[in-house]
Amino acid sequence: MIREYRELTRKEMEAADRAQTPVIIPLGALEQHGSQAPLGTDAIIAEAMCRELKKQLNEKEPDADLLFFPVFQVGLSIEHLDFCGSVSFSPETYYAMLKDVCLSLKRHGFRKIIFLVCHGGNRAHVDVLSREMRGQGLYVFALSSGAFSDPRVQATISCKNGFDFHGGEMETSMVMAVDEKLVHLEDSEAGYPAFHKQFSHIGISGSAALNWVADDWKTKEGKPIGIGGDPKGASKEKGEIILQVSAEVLVPAILEIVHFRVSE
Ligand SMILES: [Zn+2]
Repeated sequence: MIREYRELTRKEMEAADRAQTPVIIPLGALEQHGSQAPLGTDAIIAEAMCRELKKQLNEKEPDADLLFFPVFQVGLSIEHLDFCGSVSFSPETYYAMLKDVCLSLKRHGFRKIIFLVCHGGNRAHVDVLSREMRGQGLYVFALSSGAFSDPRVQATISCKNGFDFHGGEMETSMVMAVDEKLVHLEDSEAGYPAFHKQFSHIGISGSAALNWVADDWKTKEGKPIGIGGDPKGASKEKGEIILQVSAEVLVPAILEIVHFRVSE
């Protein structure tokens, strides 16, 4: 059965098969997403993804045991701190916080933890923690929330809208699928990786990279805008497709984790 971690009583938690039940922990962020989308975009997407995942998991395998942890509203957003409203843990604090959560769960007998990463900046810490926790007998899985490279998701992006990722058409659409009133498309401006244009062999990721900060992303006029892509073509309908496809991509992985038996 799929249940909300925070809704269980102590007695219900004591009765749960904690070793075999995965806890899925959604990791959001509170950071600028351009002029048009809210600061809580990643946490709003995390909540929407959880709703869609629960719906699809219940359709596929209603008996699957899973606990959904509350969404973390703040994450590691140091790359966005130059823009108004962005809030971040320091890298040290964020790692320690995630580790403390894992060790608390371990103390109560949980062995399978799934971080649902809904902000790319959170991912590197989860990957390191996953390795460290193996030594503690914990299986920490990392799932990324948006299936942005899936062809069905790529098909939603307007043509000529290159570089779409943070705060672009896809993320803005996902927020619109939750509540169109949270998005102000009339204020949207497109962003490009202007700083990296000076390099031929160094990208924002890949085998030779310089990690980006939000100031690197500028409008055509050179104004720092902090987003990648052009949100102008975003819509509620596109967001619904992206949320549905992104959940479809993750459901088989989640069920595989549910069925994976840890030795007790
Ligand atoms: Zn985001």
